Amino acid sequence: MSAIDEVKQRTDIVEVIGQYVSLSKSGRTFRGLCPFHSEKHPSFFVYPEQGSWHCFGACNTGGDVFSFIMRKEGIDFGEALRQLAERAGVNLPSRAETGVRRDEKERLYQVNEAAAQYFHDLLLNSPAAEKARNYVASRGLSLETVTKFKLGYSLNSWESLKKHLEDIGYAKDELMAAGLITEADSGETHDRFRNRLMFPLCDLKGNVTGFGARVLDDSLPKYLNSPQTIVFDKSSTLYGINLAAPAIRTQETVVIVEGYLDVITAHQHGFDNVIASMGTAVTEKQINILKKMAKSIVLAMDRDEAGEEAMRIGLVYQKILEYDDRMKKASGNIITRESEVRICVLPPNKDPDEVIKESEELWQKLISKSIPIFDYIFDLEIKGLDLTNVRDKSLAVERLGPFIKNIYKTRRVSNI
Ligand SMILES: [Zn+2]
Repeated sequence: MSAIDEVKQRTDIVEVIGQYVSLSKSGRTFRGLCPFHSEKHPSFFVYPEQGSWHCFGACNTGGDVFSFIMRKEGIDFGEALRQLAERAGVNLPSRAETGVRRDEKERLYQVNEAAAQYFHDLLLNSPAAEKARNYVASRGLSLETVTKFKLGYSLNSWESLKKHLEDIGYAKDELMAAGLITEADSGETHDRFRNRLMFPLCDLKGNVTGFGARVLDDSLPKYLNSPQTIVFDKSSTLYGINLAAPAIRTQETVVIVEGYLDVITAHQHGFDNVIASMGTAVTEKQINILKKMAKSIVLAMDRDEAGEEAMRIGLVYQKILEYDDRMKKASGNIITRESEVRICVLPPNKDPDEVIKESEELWQKLISKSIPIFDYIFDLEIKGLDLTNVRDKSLAVERLGPFIKNIYKTRRVSNI
């Protein structure tokens, strides 16, 4: 029996769908209001014996428990299989994620959590952290905010964290695996983060997966991250996602900024749906996470050279369109949650942190006046061109052509 069959067999479809739909029994079937279209009289049926569901109303379609979860959660088959397998207690051999590996991950979350707590206590109490405390105060962060984001401080020392974690029972190998210490060629190990303001990075569930660390002086690099580990993958990390998720789900909108401090300031001022990408590019993995929660994505990122900016933003848009497409195909076109991507145009040389501190109203206004991404790119590309002039006209076509072609290609596929 395949793992898929096993998951299906061990899953009670009525129980799973019952989490989303209020079902009442009628004979050997269950019936309720269709969760995929709006209706007053129930035309949605679940057949426990066949392990299937069907909507006889506007959708006029059906499927099994996997397709239900995919549609409802906006996830792909692999993710639906993973979720249902976990629920049914089935190990998926192809993922090679054995129980040992799960325990290993759990242990790394724990050691990271212990490190975060250690850094946090230092920031709040250590005399050595005075400079860090002054910095935090100079950025206008309240104690409540510092606690909420569990900001911390790493001592200017080669092995204070290592000693602390070993003292409370963690092994050197675990510290290495979590990327908290590094090993020199000589075989000696030392703390990776020294004399820095520490930002714990969390996954959606709030597990600490790694750290971002900012210098407090002029040394370089200004920001240092944890290395890739079995629990930390920079390209799927979104700073603040664990705290922002409820607001993102309620508002169906997420605002993406660039800096950790932009996120923290936004939350301190009550803008709870703000998160940061880990760098200037937004990755496909990040979009996959966000699109499950938000219909509308607002990019409020630093501006740079017009050409580069258009390309960067265009790439983000492309990835989002592709995501919509995959979801549409996976759901037989039931999901029509087409993304709305907008650009929040910040005043020149200002980042969100500064704007919000200056005026909450201004920030709100900028977000509400954000521009559809296509219009934004269009304006960027034709800026400075005189469209009554033939040469400039052909230049505009040359610049916008590839972008329009890509969108057209994606859209056409999605209409099949
Ligand atoms: Zn329906």
